[in-house]
Amino acid sequence: MPNTNMVLVVNAGSSSIKFSLYPAAAGGDARVDEAFGGGLIEGIGIQPQFKARIAGQTVEESWPQGRSLDHEHFYGFLLDWLAQTLPQAAIAAAGHRVVHGGTAFAAPTLVDGAVLAELERLVPLAPLHQPHNLAAIRALGARAPGIPQVACFDTAFHRSIPARDQLYGLPLSFAEEGLRRYGFHGLSYEFIAGALPTYDADAAAGRTIVAHLGNGASLCALQHGRSRACTMGFSTLDGLIMGTRCGNIDPGALIYLLREKGMDVAALEKLLYKESGLLGLSGLSADMRDLLASDKPEAGQAVEMFCDRVAQQVAALAAQLGGLDALVFTAGIGERSAPIRAAICRRLAWLGAELDDAANAAGGPRIGTAGSRIGLWIIPTDEESMIARQTRALLAGRRQPRAATRA
Ligand code: ADP
Repeated sequence: MPNTNMVLVVNAGSSSIKFSLYPAAAGGDARVDEAFGGGLIEGIGIQPQFKARIAGQTVEESWPQGRSLDHEHFYGFLLDWLAQTLPQAAIAAAGHRVVHGGTAFAAPTLVDGAVLAELERLVPLAPLHQPHNLAAIRALGARAPGIPQVACFDTAFHRSIPARDQLYGLPLSFAEEGLRRYGFHGLSYEFIAGALPTYDADAAAGRTIVAHLGNGASLCALQHGRSRACTMGFSTLDGLIMGTRCGNIDPGALIYLLREKGMDVAALEKLLYKESGLLGLSGLSADMRDLLASDKPEAGQAVEMFCDRVAQQVAALAAQLGGLDALVFTAGIGERSAPIRAAICRRLAWLGAELDDAANAAGGPRIGTAGSRIGLWIIPTDEESMIARQTRALLAGRRQPRAATRA
């Protein structure tokens, strides 16, 4: 068991809390990017269950169905459980995934009352996620006020997107109010941007598109390692077809649904976030594995549409980059599905993508042929270790005089 200081990484959702523990500093045989362990509490509000694996030991606990336990209860439980399980270790800091940092937060930020109030004002921009992220910060702060808490944003990495590309074709006053493109999955993209030089130094210094294909899916165009464009915009609905989210849609269709189908905001939100995408198209499942295994024509069509969209939007981002040096696949589908990678690369043959089928089947990391005009890679992402890194870096900076962390 680790006898050291730890960074607690928290990813809080509406019904689940995922956590992991990282060394607060390199030392002994501790490798800073390797978690000691972690776990999750899921089914909050339904049938809460706790599962964790720490120092080689697995622990499970459940609570009676229907017992109304709020999030605060579970943070208390988690801290008590950590104190009991790892008595010789201390939590040096907590790093939180916070979905929205608006335009102001361009870097990880130490949370105090003023920061929390600013993040609260962003709730209308991400009403499904931000409240839970902030509830986690508040609950931990109440239970353990001495632990510094760091907010790590999904939007921050995209603040380098040129101002013009952050606009929609609406009157400018809407952008000033906050209706603009933000981009998401930034923690994943920052991790990949940091790893890319060790795989492909030329692409890292040039133009790369990263395809984060998981349950949520998006593309990011990297120029010299910085975000130049993202297929997600104002919300996490935009861009690619996802597990249950619709991706690009004609805004006229939404007006139709509101006016002709009598949908209210809650029904529309449910349709677009939870009932669309691969699930809605296939009528079968949101999980790509189920669709690939099915012979239902609608499942096959959903898979084709998923790959069409990725290829179309790679082309759009390549236009923004003025060319393309490499394409990187990451996240659940991107890292694990050889047939999806192959189907996407076939659609990008005109751009010079030439897949090495054996390398693709073997899982990479290099999956392009020697003659491929663009580098093709599989690079596993690790958002949790990115949060741990950002938290550590911010705390290290605090010990020395340092400029403000917010842009
Ligand atoms: P999240 O976006 O929730 O973090 P992940 O990045 O873990 O999700 O991706 C989860 C998704 O990856 C699953 O829903 C599933 O569709 C897909 N997936 C995982 N393994 C495979 C596989 N071997 N083949 C195809 N798809 C896979």
